[in-house]
Amino acid sequence: MSSNVIWHSHPVNQKDRSEQKSQHPLVIWFTGLSASGKSTIAGALEQILTHQGYHTYLLDGDNVRHDLCEDLGFSEADRRENIRRVGAVARLMTDAGLITLAAFISPFRADRRIVRDILPEGQFVEVFVDTPLDACRRRDPKGLYAKAERGEIKQFTGIDSPYEEPQRPEVHIRAGEVSVAQAVNQLLAYLHEVGALHAGYEPVALEA
Ligand code: ADP
Repeated sequence: MSSNVIWHSHPVNQKDRSEQKSQHPLVIWFTGLSASGKSTIAGALEQILTHQGYHTYLLDGDNVRHDLCEDLGFSEADRRENIRRVGAVARLMTDAGLITLAAFISPFRADRRIVRDILPEGQFVEVFVDTPLDACRRRDPKGLYAKAERGEIKQFTGIDSPYEEPQRPEVHIRAGEVSVAQAVNQLLAYLHEVGALHAGYEPVALEA
C-alpha cells in the first residue's frame, strides 16, 4: 500500500450506526467441512434475526466465488486470499453496524485468526459446525464428495486437503446430532448471553 494513502476518520462511526439499529455488530463465522451445514444453519439464523428486526448480511462461500473471488481457486494461497478478502468485507459490514454471518469452510486456523484479529475485540464469533466426515459424505448435497473421491476435484477439504478444527470456538455445534432449529437456538442463546441482541429474541419452535 502506498504511504500516501492515509486513513480518513469520518464523523459517523460504528457505534452510531449500530445504536441506530439497536444491535451489537459482529461477525458470526461458520467454519466446518463441506456439507457440514454451515450455509443451512447460517441461513436459518439470518431468517430468524431479520424476522425479529435485526439488520444482517450473509456472506456465503459459494456465492462470493461467483464475483468477489471468482479469480481464485482452491490452492492454499488462493484459499488464504479468499478468506482475507471475505474478512475485509465482513469488517466493512460490521463497521456499517450489521450482524454479519459468514459461511466458509475456512480450513486453516491461521486464516481464521487473521479475520479475528482485524475485527474489534469481541466482534468475531467463531462457530464450529462439527459434523463427522462420514455424515458429510453421506449428505453430499452437491455431489462434491463423490467427485473428489473419483479424483475429479483436487484439494478437496477432508479428502486430500486438511481441515484444522477450531481449538476454542465461541460456539460448538454438533450438527451431526442436533437439528437445524436446535443449532439456531444454541446460537441465539449465545448471542443473547453476550449482549448482542439488545432488542431481545424468541427461540425457534422445535419440530415435534
Ligand atoms: P455447507 O454450507 O457446510 O457446505 P450445506 O448447508 O450447504 O453445508 O449442506 C448441509 C446439508 O445437510 C443440507 O442439505 C442440509 O439440509 C443437511 N442437514 C441435515 N441435517 C442437518 C443439520 N443438523 N444441520 C445442518 N444441515 C443439515
